[in-house]
Amino acid sequence: MKVAIIGSGIVGLFTAYYLMKEGVNVTLFDPADPGSYSIHAAGLIEPTRFDRINTTEMIAKMLKYKLLGTTEIKNVNKFWLKELLVNLNKEPPQEVWDVMREMAKFSLDAYKNFAEERNDFDYRADGLYEIYLNINDLEKGLREEKKNPFNPRYEVKEIEGFAGSIYFPELSRISTEKFISRMMKELKGILFKRIAIDSLKIKEIKDFDFIVLTTGFWTTKLINIPITPFKGYGYRVKGDPKLNYAAVIQEEGVAISPLSNCVKITGGFDADSSYDSSRAEIFLKKASKLIDIEYIEEMNMGFRPCSPDGFPIIGKKENIVISTGACRLGWSYGPAMGKYASDLVIGKSKDYGFLSKYVNSL
Ligand SMILES: Cc1cc2nc3c(=O)[nH]c(=O)nc-3n(C[C@H](O)[C@H](O)[C@H](O)COP(=O)(O)OP(=O)(O)OC[C@H]3O[C@@H](n4cnc5c(N)ncnc54)[C@H](O)[C@@H]3O)c2cc1C
Repeated sequence: MKVAIIGSGIVGLFTAYYLMKEGVNVTLFDPADPGSYSIHAAGLIEPTRFDRINTTEMIAKMLKYKLLGTTEIKNVNKFWLKELLVNLNKEPPQEVWDVMREMAKFSLDAYKNFAEERNDFDYRADGLYEIYLNINDLEKGLREEKKNPFNPRYEVKEIEGFAGSIYFPELSRISTEKFISRMMKELKGILFKRIAIDSLKIKEIKDFDFIVLTTGFWTTKLINIPITPFKGYGYRVKGDPKLNYAAVIQEEGVAISPLSNCVKITGGFDADSSYDSSRAEIFLKKASKLIDIEYIEEMNMGFRPCSPDGFPIIGKKENIVISTGACRLGWSYGPAMGKYASDLVIGKSKDYGFLSKYVNSL
């Protein structure tokens, strides 16, 4: 069987990996370097930090972020907005949480297993601190945790200079840059073609048995599904972090993750599909509460592909498989999204219920 994977972000690479393990002949198409639109990420493997998007609480949070300058709203996909509003505050079916918990476990285990084989990507299972500037926000965060369908373990911890933090000991983190290098070693032998596939009808892909779309927010250019981009920035810096573990300042929307050879700083949740990165530095300033920066090594930008309800979109229509939409958790769910897409191709699964709804209705 010959399979074309369009898009070599983290989801495309994991899809290629699991298909390769099944002995499938895979070709990856992407005009950009593999992983180059995924490496900006903080590398927090935090699938239990899932956010539903189609809720009034989330809209209120976005408006608060807008007032604080953490978010800017320039443009959104119209189909995405319509779906969000039509489904506002609608509860998903209970069964979807079983699928999400299974995907979360699969993904956390996958990185652990890669690291047990060879930890060449700064894998650390040292948890995540969500830090609050304001005591009311911390108390609200704790109330929300009690309703979290993933039921994660957590502890309240004091952090000097802040109102406090919620620590999630079961989460892990990695260096995204090093993990992409590791994936490229794992995928030796797979054909990478440096071209953009601008239509599903073009001759370059007509001889393949299956086409897998792992094209992030750009998927909307190829097929009619409701995805909108939320842009953000990732810096690799040298400096002196005040904490030696991964932390997110909740009100500022910035994350820092001290790694072996640099510190990763990420931020930004802009509804904006442009390549303008002029807002990136704002997040360095916000992060200065947690690190004294000596110098910047590199800055990358990326676009979180968000579905209207926050759930990934994974499904199959004829010979087309789609796996995208995990928004701010693409790395956290990447292994499962790749495996589930691979299972659709090889016929091991037919459908993922609620996660397949937008593909089934194409
Ligand atoms: C600031 C920031 C921090 C983040 N931190 C984290 C984190 O700590 N943990 C976490 O889990 N997630 C994090 N995320 C989210 C994560 O980065 C995304 O969910 C993830 O990158 C999405 O991966 P993807 O493979 O679906 O899409 P992308 O990474 O966007 O890759 C899509 C690929 O498709 C290619 N493509 C597009 N169109 C075509 C075409 N027509 N033909 C061929 N190729 C095409 C693109 O060139 C690109 O390489 C963060 C995001 C941001 C912005």
